[in-house]
Amino acid sequence: MKSITIAIDGYSSCGKSTLAKALAKELGFTYIDSGAMYRAVSLYIKRSKIPIDELSSKEVKEILADVQIEFKWNRETMLSETFLNGENVENEIRGKEVSDSVSKIAQNKNIRTILVERQREMSKGRGVVMDGRDIGTKVFPKAEVKIFMTAEPAIRAERRYSELKAKGDTITLEEVIENIRLRDYNDSTRKENPLRKAEDAIEIDNSFIGQEEQLGMVLKIVHEKI
Ligand code: C5P
Repeated sequence: MKSITIAIDGYSSCGKSTLAKALAKELGFTYIDSGAMYRAVSLYIKRSKIPIDELSSKEVKEILADVQIEFKWNRETMLSETFLNGENVENEIRGKEVSDSVSKIAQNKNIRTILVERQREMSKGRGVVMDGRDIGTKVFPKAEVKIFMTAEPAIRAERRYSELKAKGDTITLEEVIENIRLRDYNDSTRKENPLRKAEDAIEIDNSFIGQEEQLGMVLKIVHEKI
């Protein structure tokens, strides 16, 4: 299989990562969760109480030089986990506190510039599936395959709620709805790399499509492209 880049963008809780992981597994590509990178930076900033929006680009660069983000494969759970400076933060970055603050942090131009650079660096010379908000428009405008995912808001909220409940989170459905609404708003109205569908992206509304079917649809697109 030729090494290509597959960019998957879309609103929060649209099933982007489920599809991206399945695609990467099927194609033998690397999966990169760009949202986890913004979440890890948010956690770092929250913990260290840095007034990030008051800092110059040079200062932000210096701070982020101390923020190492890695993805490691957990053989027991068969899932990739996010590490922040060597600490497994996978659960913490998915919790309510980080979910509530991440889209604000992701508006910061200096942080975005550095994370976009890292995302490009991590992808060099390999087949990659990356999901996020600006992958097809900013990180990889020349990606061979671009997918833009949508789903009805109520369905997205239900899916996210079930996922969090299964993990033992005590969040309510109303809190999930509010978080999704706020992140969608922040992500699509921000100045820096807002969420939007790239002109050459293929849109998939997966409100009523199962995971197997979505995977089949995108694999067909991938095979047609290469
Ligand atoms: O993908 P996930 O929902 O985990 O992303 C968390 C947040 O990170 C998003 O709501 C968005 O604010 C930000 N993000 C971003 N650009 C990306 C990926 C995520 O701004 N490429």
